[in-house]
Amino acid sequence: MTKANPHITRESMSRLKGRRVSVLGAARSGLAAARLLHAKEARVFVSDAGFIPTPVQSELRALGIGFEEGGHSARVQEADFLVSSPGVPDTAPPIQAALQSDLPVISEIELASWFCHSRMIAITGSNGKTTTTELTGHILHHAGHRPIVCGNIGTPFAERVLDASPEDIVVLEVSSFQLDHVHTFRPDVSVVLNITPDHLDRYGNDMDRYAAAKLRICAQQDDTDAFIYSMDDARLSAFIRSRQHGPDREGPRAFGITTTDVATTPEHSDAAGYLKDGYLTLRIDNMEETLMQPNDLALRGRHNVYNSLAAAVAARVVEVRSDVMRESLRTFEGVPHRLESVREVDGVRYVNDSKATNVNAVWYALESFREPVILIAGGRDKGNDYHKLTPLVKERVRALITIGEAAETIHTQLGPHVEDAVRAESLADAVHLAHLLAQQGDVVLLSPACASFDMFASFEDRGDQFKQLVSNI
Ligand code: ADP
Repeated sequence: MTKANPHITRESMSRLKGRRVSVLGAARSGLAAARLLHAKEARVFVSDAGFIPTPVQSELRALGIGFEEGGHSARVQEADFLVSSPGVPDTAPPIQAALQSDLPVISEIELASWFCHSRMIAITGSNGKTTTTELTGHILHHAGHRPIVCGNIGTPFAERVLDASPEDIVVLEVSSFQLDHVHTFRPDVSVVLNITPDHLDRYGNDMDRYAAAKLRICAQQDDTDAFIYSMDDARLSAFIRSRQHGPDREGPRAFGITTTDVATTPEHSDAAGYLKDGYLTLRIDNMEETLMQPNDLALRGRHNVYNSLAAAVAARVVEVRSDVMRESLRTFEGVPHRLESVREVDGVRYVNDSKATNVNAVWYALESFREPVILIAGGRDKGNDYHKLTPLVKERVRALITIGEAAETIHTQLGPHVEDAVRAESLADAVHLAHLLAQQGDVVLLSPACASFDMFASFEDRGDQFKQLVSNI
């Protein structure tokens, strides 16, 4: 991660005509950056450590964009700055070389933000980004806005930014990797849902570095901007406390959300989104508005109370009325692969939570069920500590089925706390075993706590295969 470079100003950088820019990575966001740079008349060079598919090569040739594949040559450094893709780690030699020679490295969202004339709501967190981004887009749409929902969620910001007019609102999902190289990026509203261990392999196993990357979302905001954060996250509330008492008091207005009842938690009396007498409630500029009970939200689970409060506060800050908000929160259909109900077979409900790629997400998944759970977990380990799940596993999980590279570790750490713990050879085997073990009234939950890449192309592929297997039972 680089520190914000004081020599990078939007005015100086965004005049791109004739400037040489190297783009690292020719996947979706790298290509979107290359196209945007080309549209702004920069001289672009694309470099990918892997292979660039033939249709992409043809497109680059047609645009007159130079490229290389199968490695990064010294040519990458012959540039005024580099644009890095989220998939390229900072340890990659061209990034290291650039940082050492003070060649600016920027991320694709930094680049896109130079050309954004819309208001922007940017959302990050270890978990809940996609759900909250979609939910915010859904609320804004119902309120009659034209939200431009993009970023880490799918379509890169650089691909959409030139469509966005001053009347639109960009709702941007941002990952920590995209925040690693921001310098002038300044959303009107930033949201940090939570900071819990994830991707630590990319941050030298250092939680502080990972948290610092996430908090760069608000580094350039001032008191005309808003920062929405969870007061229940110790790291985030410590950050706000240190800022309120530190020298840097010029930052954004802070809007805390909490799922504790403010009546019983006086230290949260200044929250902007909270529960009061069992109702989701907002208070912004001293005006209190009662929204609804958690049971009336379309999405289940305490984690979704956070997501709903965050989206509601963000929408309120851009002046959406509470009746529109209530209706939108009631009707939001949810996002596939996040606690997605698949099917009921013989009184057993099958739930696809393939996007639960870290321990915290599984924690909230387990917490949202009252029924006994048959948990299918495992995949590519990211340095996880599964012990954190022990209390909930003891309480809610009847059988544990482990898959993939982490099977052994999860089995050892959590197996002793359940009636049945078995290792499966494949996802098909796991679904078969779950079907045998489940009793009427149980939930079979795929919530892996791991990345998917040991056995699947992506978490979507893993979830789709799970759904297919369940539909074949
Ligand atoms: P992200 O985009 O940050 O990965 P998603 O909305 O895709 O977040 O959800 C990822 C996983 O985390 C899912 O398993 C989901 O059920 C769970 N989850 C969603 N919101 C939260 C939250 N606020 N806290 C913890 N877990 C959450």
